[in-house]
Amino acid sequence: MTNLAMNLVHTAAKHPDRPAIRLGDSVLSYAQFEQASQLVAALLTQHGVRPGDRVALMLPNVPHFALLYYGALRLGAIVVPMNPLLKEREVAYHLSDSGARLLFVWTGFEQEGEAGAVLAEAKTIVVEPTTWPGLLAGLAPVAEVHEADADDTAVILYTSGTTGKPKGAELTHANIARNVEICADELIFVSEQDVVFGGLPLFHVFGQTASLNAAIYAGACLTLLPKFDPRAALETIARDKVTIFQGVPTMYTVLAHFPERDHYDTSSLRVCVSGGAALPVEILNAFESAYSCIVLEGYGLSETSPVVSINRLDQRRAGSIGVPVSGVEVRIVDDSAVDVPVGEIGELIVRGHNVMKSYWGKPDETAQAIPDGWFRTGDLARRDEDGFLYIVDRKKDLIIRSGYNVYPREVEEVLYEHPAVAEAAVVAFPHPEFGDEIAAVVALKPGAAAEPDELREFVKAKVAAYKYPRVVEIVTALPKGATGKILKREITLTTV
Ligand code: AMP
Repeated sequence: MTNLAMNLVHTAAKHPDRPAIRLGDSVLSYAQFEQASQLVAALLTQHGVRPGDRVALMLPNVPHFALLYYGALRLGAIVVPMNPLLKEREVAYHLSDSGARLLFVWTGFEQEGEAGAVLAEAKTIVVEPTTWPGLLAGLAPVAEVHEADADDTAVILYTSGTTGKPKGAELTHANIARNVEICADELIFVSEQDVVFGGLPLFHVFGQTASLNAAIYAGACLTLLPKFDPRAALETIARDKVTIFQGVPTMYTVLAHFPERDHYDTSSLRVCVSGGAALPVEILNAFESAYSCIVLEGYGLSETSPVVSINRLDQRRAGSIGVPVSGVEVRIVDDSAVDVPVGEIGELIVRGHNVMKSYWGKPDETAQAIPDGWFRTGDLARRDEDGFLYIVDRKKDLIIRSGYNVYPREVEEVLYEHPAVAEAAVVAFPHPEFGDEIAAVVALKPGAAAEPDELREFVKAKVAAYKYPRVVEIVTALPKGATGKILKREITLTTV
């Protein structure tokens, strides 16, 4: 029987005095974490939570997220993590769609949280460090762990998937627990000696599986950073002697270019993992040489718990998302679900232990996403002769100019080669003759200068004529999502 909640119980028994979670100078040992999760289970019981009930969490990266997460799992409840920056309407949507009747919201975010909960007729508990002990005082710890079946849902993660309104990806205990074991035992070899950087949002699948759950499974220390900025990240790495750094490409971009990076001792870093979006090869190289540490790029989605494929310490290729992990199969297919030849581009589809059970309450969307046991990722990919996978783009981001396919990712890679470019996004805009026309929106490195014409000519010299951006706009920053992914949908061009 696989039960994610048992990972904490086992680790607390094995390493009671090792540090489990750290935020600044405050450290919680595994014994303290286990005890607090028993009290949280008691608190939830007091509020009427039963196995299978949904409990929503709207917290940044603070230890209380982990305590509530494991307390709820202990009871057999389903955790619904939410971005603390959601607004009233979005909160209400997540609560009503998941049917969560109880929302825990971190102090400072309660205005939108409470307003959303009122609309969804859910109860709110505001979590605040000073009143937290009072919430748990006098409760009788719940030592037993609800016997979850491997196929029971542990977490519902809201994601837009390939299209439309956010849908709740239902991940089972087995989905997550197996993916956690693979991360910890086969890919990055996490042990109780490790210190894991906790700067990825825990409400997102990447931070949840690869940072929080993998650290707890292995008995490592997770050092939390509630809001990512390069200085705070480097201070954390130096202070806590972080050994495993996990981040999204935008984190690697700012760290690679951070002018004061040499002021910090980052020699404790053993391995870094990038995921969540494409890591430009230029950034990979710049980061590895600045920090003398290997970066393994991996790939996954909320629906796949998340890890599908990753490069290995002894076998890696820049620009590739590596090869599938144990127990996961992938295929690259055309629109009729027929496999394309090696080297050709098609949609990546996935089958394995990590594929979600369903979209919560949405049988039609589930059947569309998993029509034949294979999950449609909506990502376009190719495979090389040695089986390494490359994400070319999102299916929906494909630009078709005058009948020619242009993969924005390829053009972005060229822009990143320009010394002044910090970040780039290539998007389409409508053109009466060509259908799509190509534009690039670029943010420059601090102190760097470049003119739009210069950047356009730079790309024009390196790619086929139909691919270079006819319009280049320079902005101070690109719009980003919660995990730091560039949000192309939110880019508005100002010159066309
Ligand atoms: P999410 O469900 O928020 O984790 O988003 C999943 C999506 O992120 C995937 O469908 C990909 O489009 C994108 N993604 C994740 N990892 C990578 C990667 N290494 N390279 C390119 N895209 C990625």
